[in-house]
Amino acid sequence: MSGAAQRRAYLQAMGIQAWVRRDGDSPLVAGEAKQDAAPPVAGGEVLEAGEAVVASIAKPQATASHETAAPEAHVDERPLPVEPSVPDVRSELPASPSEEMPVAPAAIPPGVDVNALGWDALQAVVARCTACDLHATRTQTVFGTGNRTADWMIVGEAPGADEDQQGEPFVGRAGQLLNNMLRAIGLQREQVYIANVIKCRPPNNRNPHVDEISQCLGYLQRQIALVKPRLILVVGRVAAHGLLKVDTPLGKLRGQVYRFCDTPVVVTYHPAYLLRTPRDKAKSWDDLRFAHRVAEGHDGEDGQA
Ligand code: SF4
Repeated sequence: MSGAAQRRAYLQAMGIQAWVRRDGDSPLVAGEAKQDAAPPVAGGEVLEAGEAVVASIAKPQATASHETAAPEAHVDERPLPVEPSVPDVRSELPASPSEEMPVAPAAIPPGVDVNALGWDALQAVVARCTACDLHATRTQTVFGTGNRTADWMIVGEAPGADEDQQGEPFVGRAGQLLNNMLRAIGLQREQVYIANVIKCRPPNNRNPHVDEISQCLGYLQRQIALVKPRLILVVGRVAAHGLLKVDTPLGKLRGQVYRFCDTPVVVTYHPAYLLRTPRDKAKSWDDLRFAHRVAEGHDGEDGQA
């Protein structure tokens, strides 16, 4: 599938209409936008004349709030690179507080060294965990799901109502959208490992508190250590802030590589946010293409947690 077709398929899967040029069927590339060309249409909106098509990786848009919409960005239609023409992202890594973050103490429950646990023992400890108040209102813990030797790990915020009932992360409409996003870059849900920063649903879907994230983060760190992914795709502001220990608006976190437990981290929007803000769906395509390049550029030795 060509890059343009791939992009159109992605946007269609995301529930928005891809724009096409009215003066021909060749995709726009940076620097060749014609001043006299009819403006392309994006998601039903006519683009302003002279608007630039994003050349490679969309740079993060400054936003007034964490996931508040930035001006509509138009994504590159080039296909996902399959050649090792991958930029050495590690040389461009921004300083990340997570690089110096020590492995969280396995403070839950007392006497248990989470960092020494295998999958079954870890899941059992999480299922019994009462380390923070969220245990009192959960139906069940939501441990994680997927391929335990995956190259990609998807990290979200916390279980919602559906997840709390089913015991699995990213179910319901947001889960369906995540599945479509993954499928668009050639990944089935079963191929990745999906987990949340928080394993128990916060009441009324409120954001997790800082202390709750601190209590729970050791479990995710152990999951990362066990999976040894080549890439962590963090979806949503709360998960990004909890994992990276920053308070940078999500729009500014996009398009960069961070590290957590020595694993590259790329940040994008949460599917639930994209359901509420369809105009940002196209930006997530940029983010996934970027994440794909980062994952492909990984030499397989740095992904050790
Ligand atoms: S949210 Fe995490 S730390 Fe809190 S009770 Fe649930 S598993 Fe334990």
